[in-house]
Amino acid sequence: MTHANKVVPIRPAKPDCANRYSVEEVRAALREGRMELHYQPQYCLNSGRTVAAEALARLRDRNGELVYPDRFIDELEHHNLIVEFGRAVIARACEDLKALRSRQLPGIRVAVNLAANQLNLDCTLADFVTEELSKRGLSHGDIEFELTERQGFSAASAGASQLVKLASRGSRVVLDDFGVGYACAASLRDLPFSAIKIDRLVLQDTGNSEVRLGMLEGVLALASRLGLEVIAEGIETIDQEQTLKTLGFRWGQGFGYAMPMQAESLMSFLSDEVQWPASLVLG
Ligand code: C2E
Ligand code: MG
Ligand code: MG
Repeated sequence: MTHANKVVPIRPAKPDCANRYSVEEVRAALREGRMELHYQPQYCLNSGRTVAAEALARLRDRNGELVYPDRFIDELEHHNLIVEFGRAVIARACEDLKALRSRQLPGIRVAVNLAANQLNLDCTLADFVTEELSKRGLSHGDIEFELTERQGFSAASAGASQLVKLASRGSRVVLDDFGVGYACAASLRDLPFSAIKIDRLVLQDTGNSEVRLGMLEGVLALASRLGLEVIAEGIETIDQEQTLKTLGFRWGQGFGYAMPMQAESLMSFLSDEVQWPASLVLG
């Protein structure tokens, strides 16, 4: 773990239910330009190099405080506004990636979260993505999509054709929240996933739990049989990282490596990485 070895408490893990943001408040935030993306690096566990960054949406309230997705995303995902919101996220992610590329920083991908309902409601989503990429000189290989698994989604869902189009045009599609969502074996077989992302709950307590170790090994075996990569999310400690490496995991993300950060900070993070001598990060 190259950047940070300690776990830093950031904010309460549980959703702040009493303080939920309404769809109207989200709409106002979008209208007033108060939606932001913070980026959390994903890295290669063997080399310690950043390979991608996940775009995580936040709203800025009128007092300048950040509002995290646990206060608005569930409700939004059941509302038509998820289409406009999701498109704003994609456009911003493309814009930030273009800025990053213009600074000659490493060619990392950006990962954008997609809700099942967003795919079902936005029947021209793939074309929208293609347009946003091409007007900035980017290609589908520069962006990947994480299908969040809070709602069921299968090859029979209305939005499956959008996912298939995105994949056929060259974007990686990742099944997010694996282990705590609605994923079934059939969707792994029938949808064009390149990777699965294990939820951090599956990782917790790996150091002292045979059951969890067995689960991690099982997921890795299943993925390898299906030709999928596995990304481990929520790596907070060196012990967890070591366990994953020993089991053969190659890709990870978590507070132990890097916190989500604004686009400007991501650029400094990546330029620091460029300056490290290779001997310090390889091995
Ligand atoms: P997710 O896609 O599974 O994103 C990972 C969440 O885990 C993020 O929370 C991230 O900050 C947190 N996380 C990452 N590493 C660690 C760690 O080491 N420890 C702990 N305790 N947490 C870690 P965040 O940003 O609050 O996002 C929550 C969820 O909101 C996301 O889960 C995603 O499902 C959803 N979301 C975020 N942005 C968007 C978006 O633009 N569109 C949609 N549809 N959903 C989004
Ligand atoms: Mg995600
Ligand atoms: Mg996840």
